[in-house]
Amino acid sequence: MIPAKFDYVRPATVEDAVSALAERGEDAKVIAGGQSLLPLLRLRLAYPELLVDLGGIDELSGVADEGEQLLIGARTTHYQIVHDPLIAQHCGLLAQAAGTVADPAVRHRGTLGGSIAHADPAGDLPAVVVALDATMLARGPGGDREIAARDFFADYLTTALGPGEILTGIRVPKLGSDWGYRYEKFHRTAQAWAIVGVAALVRRSNGQVAEARVGLTNMGSVPIRAASVEEAAAGAQASPAALRAAAASAADGTQPPADLHGAPDYRRHLARVLTGRALEAAAGV
Ligand SMILES: Cc1cc2nc3c(=O)[nH]c(=O)nc-3n(C[C@H](O)[C@H](O)[C@H](O)COP(=O)(O)OP(=O)(O)OC[C@H]3O[C@@H](n4cnc5c(N)ncnc54)[C@H](O)[C@@H]3O)c2cc1C
Repeated sequence: MIPAKFDYVRPATVEDAVSALAERGEDAKVIAGGQSLLPLLRLRLAYPELLVDLGGIDELSGVADEGEQLLIGARTTHYQIVHDPLIAQHCGLLAQAAGTVADPAVRHRGTLGGSIAHADPAGDLPAVVVALDATMLARGPGGDREIAARDFFADYLTTALGPGEILTGIRVPKLGSDWGYRYEKFHRTAQAWAIVGVAALVRRSNGQVAEARVGLTNMGSVPIRAASVEEAAAGAQASPAALRAAAASAADGTQPPADLHGAPDYRRHLARVLTGRALEAAAGV
């Protein structure tokens, strides 16, 4: 189908983008890579009267070293994330997971900020930023504010961004060399969406798990931290048996969706199996 008619602006600064959004209120919508929004426009599931294209705002693209953290611009594409040396060195989980998003064509256009702001529970990167304890940076009519990743995802396709706010960047704490990581994605075919995904981070010390973090994709309307797994893994032996035992509670408290690809019980089973695999790989055992 052909999208409904809309006006289009391509500002060069974040300030101009915020002003354009403020002028048109609910009738305006941001577009970044268009990989999620364009299909919605074509199906007429969304019909904004104004599209504010972030594609001309260079300050929103790229990765900056801030010492203890990396600042990743919201318009940084999945392709850039997969190939960025700073991300590879300090935040390899994000690069690995971004490499599983769709296909090369989508990864060249789709952006980190778009994936996060779209907040699809089947999207791979929301669970990753939750596991990384990242911080979202937003700018809107009321100025700048920061939102912890854990508080950012409010519901299905809904975030904590307020009216007229733009996600400008994602701040990610650097991980030391004692951290291992793995994103395990179970999908029907290569390059397809996750039926379930698991983002795991493990810090090892003297043969034990000093700290573990686990984020779950598509196990509810928002990405979930598997707190009971993290508690069970912390202090456990870094062995396959101990990590699989910790993974047994991965589905506790989750409300996975039912669709053509799997029933909730199937997804719960996947969550336990994939969490075990992800923890083992992250711990290097
Ligand atoms: C064929 C195909 C396969 C896909 N497979 C996967 C997959 O396996 N895994 C996966 O995770 N995703 C997948 N996707 C989804 C897609 O890759 C991401 O959702 C996409 O990259 C989002 O980024 P974007 O820049 O294209 O966002 P857009 O489509 O431009 O925008 C998406 C939404 O976010 C808003 N938005 C965008 N940027 C900002 C910002 N900076 N501030 C505020 N709001 C903003 C827009 O208003 C819109 O509501 C797939 C898409 C396609 C077309």
